Amino acid sequence: MKKNTFIINVRDLFVKDTGVIDTYKVLDSILESDIDDFSKSVINGKVDVVKINNYDVLVEFDLNCKVRINCVRCLKKYPLSIRIKFNQTYSINPVIGEQEYVIKNYQIDISNVIVEEIITHLPIKPLCSQNCSGIIGHGNYRKD
Ligand SMILES: [Zn+2]
Repeated sequence: MKKNTFIINVRDLFVKDTGVIDTYKVLDSILESDIDDFSKSVINGKVDVVKINNYDVLVEFDLNCKVRINCVRCLKKYPLSIRIKFNQTYSINPVIGEQEYVIKNYQIDISNVIVEEIITHLPIKPLCSQNCSGIIGHGNYRKD
């Protein structure tokens, strides 16, 4: 993954045999996202791309994502590490309803699927620390 880390080029993989795996290392890559909360997420790990047939590849993600989210008590942003491990199939001819998992010009954009996976792993009530005392100095000091 050079230039744009989250674009995988599968042109070379498609001329190889079925079952061949290309491994991409992701090192301190900054995820750009339309969703503000995740636009500066730092991603590390690896992505395996397996050729299933002449139209489809299986992408196996194993990534550690450092995101910055808002604490529900003090409302400040704090860093959170999230491990995501999942598989996704991408196709040159995706079935209806799976258009986002398309291989276009022999390229796969994996940024959106990573963001979606991060969202499903977020805590329901994120806290910067168990002892977070909430917003101090605004008259609504709270301790529970
Ligand atoms: Zn807090």
